[in-house]
Amino acid sequence: MLSCATLFEANTEPVTTANFSSLPLRTEELANIQSLGYLTMTPIQAQSLPTILEGKDLLAQAKTGSGKTAAFAIGLLHKLEITTYKVQAMILCPTRELADQVTNEIRRLARSISNTKIVTLCGGKSMAPQLASMEHQPHIIVGTPGRILKHMDKGSLKLNDLKILVLDEADRMLDMGFHEEIMRVIKMVPHKRQTLLFSATYPNEIKKISNAIQINPIDVRIESLHDDKKIRQIFYEIIPGERTKTLITLLRHYQPESSLVFCNTKQQCQDLASELRQQDFHALALHGDLEQRDRDQVLVQFSNKSCSILIATDVAARGLDIKELHAVINFELSPDPEIHIHRIGRTGRADKEGMALSIFIRSEKFRVEAIEKYKKSPVKINKLASLSIKKNIKFYPKMVTLCINAGRKDKMRAGDILGALTGNTELTGDQIGKIDIFDKLAYVAVEHAISRKALEVLSEGKIKGRMFKIRRLR
Ligand code: ADP
Ligand code: MG
Repeated sequence: MLSCATLFEANTEPVTTANFSSLPLRTEELANIQSLGYLTMTPIQAQSLPTILEGKDLLAQAKTGSGKTAAFAIGLLHKLEITTYKVQAMILCPTRELADQVTNEIRRLARSISNTKIVTLCGGKSMAPQLASMEHQPHIIVGTPGRILKHMDKGSLKLNDLKILVLDEADRMLDMGFHEEIMRVIKMVPHKRQTLLFSATYPNEIKKISNAIQINPIDVRIESLHDDKKIRQIFYEIIPGERTKTLITLLRHYQPESSLVFCNTKQQCQDLASELRQQDFHALALHGDLEQRDRDQVLVQFSNKSCSILIATDVAARGLDIKELHAVINFELSPDPEIHIHRIGRTGRADKEGMALSIFIRSEKFRVEAIEKYKKSPVKINKLASLSIKKNIKFYPKMVTLCINAGRKDKMRAGDILGALTGNTELTGDQIGKIDIFDKLAYVAVEHAISRKALEVLSEGKIKGRMFKIRRLR
């Protein structure tokens, strides 16, 4: 394996030193933030938290992974009147998955305040349990615009006391056509409120919606350009018809442990995934048409290291909190240079160096030039011939995912699965990877070498002494 470190210049990015203790937060809030391992503020937090705490409207743009969730979560939690059981803060998100991520982050940050009630309201789930959880109003609502409106219309969600409204991933909500729903929500919430708008990119529509729903917002933008310093970016010009072949060459040469491959359309994502799988690469496609369960399965496999190549469109990939991405590969260049910079900003996070590889044909050269113009510096274009192609390299991920047809609703816990696998068997804990529990399903990653044995053990009814259906995901 080619070590990434040898490829890079020293990381010269300035380190943030802004400390959370410079903010007017309570001691227990600060202690909890620190216990989460958040030692210094990220740039977007440092620049937006003072404004949020002062109660002003905010329009904030920073790339995915820059800590936007904690920025608004810390701010709104600080302002809650915990003894008042009324909805005081509401966060609109584009998808259920992002709403779940946001809810989890708020819960973690709320640990220092007892009795904080947070409810997630998203579509694709039945109304009855949601209605039950709304019988007593929570402090905080997180959800998708459509379902939130449904509750507002039914009267189960009362927003007369709303103080803070957050639009998270606003660009993606607009991409997904939520403009009208957002405007309907705005009409039904108190006029006197604080509105926070967070976005990864800054298209014109964002400015427009901000004008429509905010009052004199403070504008905070964290440029993503400086990222270039810790991302090794290389372009390859190829002849038409050789895209897939080139991608395979790049994968064989660089052997990234995990890579996100961008295509411009869903169809291209699917086609590429099946081509790669035919050639023995364990690649999975993520695109807008997937059912939520399939989408969960793709993300589970990618994050637990049983799939190393994720193929996605911009819309499908936006907002996902994917850690440790070794490479971003542009199978097709985006026509928009800002989106390109955003794509590649996903590798090389958290002071780890990353790699961005882009493929283009001559007629797309103007896209490369647009990127150069945008970042005000030339890019590096290498020859394919400079790559050494190691033939017959098998490119298997380290792990395999087993799916168990029982989840949180069946009281399945990670410990039950780990216990079944390692108790009274020759399997050891270090051969078992990440365990993910969903409402009705659970997933466990196990090392390749023991996958058959693990499947056998779990199928024998050793989890909680009950029989569950187990299958291996491919
Ligand atoms: P964004 O919404 O900007 O895409 P997230 O809010 O999902 O980013 O944050 C990305 C990751 O960074 C999360 O895993 C979060 O726990 C972590 N994080 C947030 N703030 C800090 C901090 N101050 N220090 C360290 N890690 C942080
Ligand atoms: Mg986010």
